[in-house]
Amino acid sequence: MLQQLRQFRDERDWAQFHNSKDLALALSIEASELNEVFLWKKAEDADPVRVREELADVLLYAFQLADKYGWDIPQLMQEKIDRNAEKYPADKARSSSAKYDKL
Ligand SMILES: [Mg+2]
Repeated sequence: MLQQLRQFRDERDWAQFHNSKDLALALSIEASELNEVFLWKKAEDADPVRVREELADVLLYAFQLADKYGWDIPQLMQEKIDRNAEKYPADKARSSSAKYDKL
């Protein structure tokens, strides 16, 4: 997947624009587009086709940002899941929406 994404970028000579700041901004903008799909609606009324499309945009920019730093995406996700598991022990966090420092 990453190789395909790099090829797409390189065939268009867009690497020159893909600095970490602009990738982060693009990710945030796409996240806002995702939010817009839900704006002023009940969650179940949001168009799933648009949710899927905007979520794909968010993920593609997230992957490109991780790739920019040379990070292994499954590894960084695993590290974060592990940290979250420490912050939110299941026995304390179960059925709670509290932040970790309030558990
Ligand atoms: Mg979009």
